[in-house]
Amino acid sequence: MHGQVVEKSWLTPTLVRVVLGGGDLERFSMVDAADAYVNLAFPPPGAPYDAEFEPAQVREHHDRQWWPARRRYTVRAWDPSTAQLTIDFVVHGDVGVAGAWAVHAEPGDVLVLEGPSGGYRPDPEADWLLMVGDESAVPAIAAALETVPAGMLAVVRVLCDGPEHDLDLACSGNLALSWVHRLGDGHDEELLPAAVRDLSFPRGRVDAFIHGEATEIREIRKHLLVERGLARADMSCSPYWRRDMTDEAWREVKRDFVRAMDEDVAPVG
Ligand SMILES: Cc1cc2nc3c(=O)[nH]c(=O)nc-3n(C[C@H](O)[C@H](O)[C@H](O)COP(=O)(O)OP(=O)(O)OC[C@H]3O[C@@H](n4cnc5c(N)ncnc54)[C@H](O)[C@@H]3O)c2cc1C
Repeated sequence: MHGQVVEKSWLTPTLVRVVLGGGDLERFSMVDAADAYVNLAFPPPGAPYDAEFEPAQVREHHDRQWWPARRRYTVRAWDPSTAQLTIDFVVHGDVGVAGAWAVHAEPGDVLVLEGPSGGYRPDPEADWLLMVGDESAVPAIAAALETVPAGMLAVVRVLCDGPEHDLDLACSGNLALSWVHRLGDGHDEELLPAAVRDLSFPRGRVDAFIHGEATEIREIRKHLLVERGLARADMSCSPYWRRDMTDEAWREVKRDFVRAMDEDVAPVG
């Protein structure tokens, strides 16, 4: 499936919104999830096939060097009336494939995608909601907040580079949102776990959404399960990306990392 860039705008100095339309997006079948994501496929420069390709066909008919790079991105919004799909990309320097693509994207550019999948929805039966992540989780958190019932408490902590990166996030519930700003002092990965540790938890059952940088997510998950006694079923937890690793390198080690995350909270003996 593919769409074309119809609109691009900067939400913050490092978050760029791309709206896709046209192509064959009318085939897109949205799932009932706030964290719905698609697999984007970026062909390498000079790829010997059309911009509108089917990833499976490319893998079948071309050498591995021509296979597209795969990156997962959240569906920030899907409008079935216009068949337009909105994705918010974190731009993190000149490195990488997807962030760099978004910086240079222009109306008319083609983007190939597969999906969507996803499974998280804020639990309206919980007593309160906790949502934690960095900029890469902002699209999912923003989409989730739009579904929070009126009056329900949603406590949100988001890590970003500074006040000019803070966004107004809309929510019908009772939103307690704080942005946690990196200091660039070599200890930034400790800030988000510390922000969660510092929270005074309201009474009752919490439904938690914890997505973002792998080592930070691991630390927060351990804290919530071991020290706060959350049930695993009450937590959606996903290490989206890993500092100093491309997505290819991260996918190589992700299975072991997730196993180690489980061992963090396994009963001893
Ligand atoms: C289910 C799912 C949904 C996701 N949704 C989104 C989304 O909506 N928006 C979004 O921006 N990301 C999202 N991500 C994360 C995104 O897939 C990764 O950040 C991905 O690595 C970016 O690819 P890239 O080609 O730009 O960089 P890569 O080539 O993968 O990495 C190059 C370098 O950049 C670093 N890097 C990667 N991501 C970041 C980052 N966010 N901040 C700082 N440094 C980084 C890497 O550690 C590496 O050193 C999602 C991930 C998953 C699994």
